[in-house]
Amino acid sequence: MASVSSASAPVAPGWRHVYSGKVRDLYVPADTAQDARPAALLVVASDRVSAFDHVLEPGIHGKGELLTELSRWWFHQLRTVPNHLVAVREGLPPVPAELEARSMVVKSLEMFPVECVVRGYLSGSGWKEYQASESVCGIALPAGLHDGDRLPQPIYTPAYKAPLGEHDENISFERTVELIGLSDATALRELSLEIYERASAIAEARGVILADTKFEFGRDPETGAITLADEVLTSDSSRYWDAAAYDSGERTASFDKQIVRNWLAANWDQVGPPPTLPQEIVERTAARYAELLQRLTA
Ligand code: ATP
Ligand code: MG
Repeated sequence: MASVSSASAPVAPGWRHVYSGKVRDLYVPADTAQDARPAALLVVASDRVSAFDHVLEPGIHGKGELLTELSRWWFHQLRTVPNHLVAVREGLPPVPAELEARSMVVKSLEMFPVECVVRGYLSGSGWKEYQASESVCGIALPAGLHDGDRLPQPIYTPAYKAPLGEHDENISFERTVELIGLSDATALRELSLEIYERASAIAEARGVILADTKFEFGRDPETGAITLADEVLTSDSSRYWDAAAYDSGERTASFDKQIVRNWLAANWDQVGPPPTLPQEIVERTAARYAELLQRLTA
């Protein structure tokens, strides 16, 4: 978890701002007592974009709304899996009209401190690790794989969701058992792999490869049910590739913020503060986010 200054968090009357991550601002109903579990959370997705653990300037206009729409669409596709969306908002403060499209009102869950990562393809940090060890997060893989290759089967590579200010850390499945117990650890792994399979089939039918993704789950304090939380299958939490480009050998036609990462890698030494993104990079990234939403949901 990284916290940014809350100065940029929009004002939502009736709600109290409690936390800002790199991208999203969280609120509880203003009448929530200090240590009480809130009746719900308001999660507002900003247009902020982060890369290499830095929040960049300027934001990508429309990003918060596009990613919220995508998340909602996926929750609906996966509606047989319990999720944190609150359907009936009776008794809760209203969401300001200008924030509605970038907001989700969700149940306040007891979150598991585990980021449930599933990888169907070798890429990013997985590819780096494979080159050094022929394995990813302790899972041995066949020799001779290349950057971007499809894995023989999707693998579950969890990470520990570190407390504020610390870096998330890749952990073994056994470590998740120590953290949350065998039964919940197994349930998170099974659910994550199942959701990945379902989502990648849906994406593939629309010409999009879901290379990898990260889920977060929590327990519903009322029902005890393990519940899908956070954002789901957005281009901030997932790597999406264009299937046609992939098949023709171009393995970088990605729908996420790869354009931003590539530009930064070429124009910044990663020592001082990151440079301001050029307008052209902002526009191309915004167009890519819009295209992904269109491809998946049209
Ligand atoms: P980072 O900037 O590294 O992403 P972050 O993950 O803390 O930090 P956000 O993703 O912007 O920042 O914030 C969302 C936070 O809300 C996360 O900590 C996530 O675990 C938590 N969260 C998501 N859904 C729920 C829920 N239903 N109940 C309680 N907490 C939730
Ligand atoms: Mg997060």
